[in-house]
Amino acid sequence: MITTNAGQRQNSNSTTGKGKANTKDSKDKQNIFVQKRILEEAFARVAKKVGYDMNVRIEILPTHKMSLSISDEGSSIISNSTDTVIRGSSALVRKLDERELEATIAHEIGHSMRLHGAIDTGAVFIGLAGTLLPIVGGIIEIVGVDGAAPNLLLGAGLALAGVAFGFLSIPAFMFISRIHEYAADKYAAKLLGTGKGFISFLQKVMDSRPKRETSFLERLLANHPPPQKRIDRLLKLEKKLEEKAARESQCPKTENPA
Ligand SMILES: [Zn+2]
Repeated sequence: MITTNAGQRQNSNSTTGKGKANTKDSKDKQNIFVQKRILEEAFARVAKKVGYDMNVRIEILPTHKMSLSISDEGSSIISNSTDTVIRGSSALVRKLDERELEATIAHEIGHSMRLHGAIDTGAVFIGLAGTLLPIVGGIIEIVGVDGAAPNLLLGAGLALAGVAFGFLSIPAFMFISRIHEYAADKYAAKLLGTGKGFISFLQKVMDSRPKRETSFLERLLANHPPPQKRIDRLLKLEKKLEEKAARESQCPKTENPA
């Protein structure tokens, strides 16, 4: 099984005993500085693989929840814009080892490279248009504009269709979001040549959550797939990546038998 050294940084960052407020402040700042550098270095390693000329701003969010985001408005990684901001939570940097951290960064880069943010925005726009236009059309039919006779039946039908579209579009958005998560997982594994780091990260996510059955509605409205399903897919991909690596390692021998 995959082993992690998640506790190491946490121990080194922990403070013991009582101290003056100033001492504590400087320690906190030092911790954030160290965390910032860790995240910066991890991003630089992954960015090198993508061929991204790194010029980004790193921010550490002082939260207990593991989170990471790359704010690039969907395209700056591709265009090498300097506006990219990486926001990683303090908990994420403390709890993950280098390999897991690289995997989460590669996953986020995957979202950017595949333009998931732009697709999500487009989907929301379609959802809003598909909801609001029939409702407005329905109201116009019910009220009757420009001397036209009100058509209650048509108006009510249009309004109901708009409401129904709005309700149905929510699980549709969530479905698209889950597809994006699988795609970003795959991107990260292919970029790094292995999915082990992300599998290990997902395992930690699972361990941090209370174990319970989720309802059908929860699964329908979840914006992320269940971690176990993601792990299962990554394990299948891992096999393929290992087979590919084995084939590639054999190639030079056959080409240069001497
Ligand atoms: Zn994601």
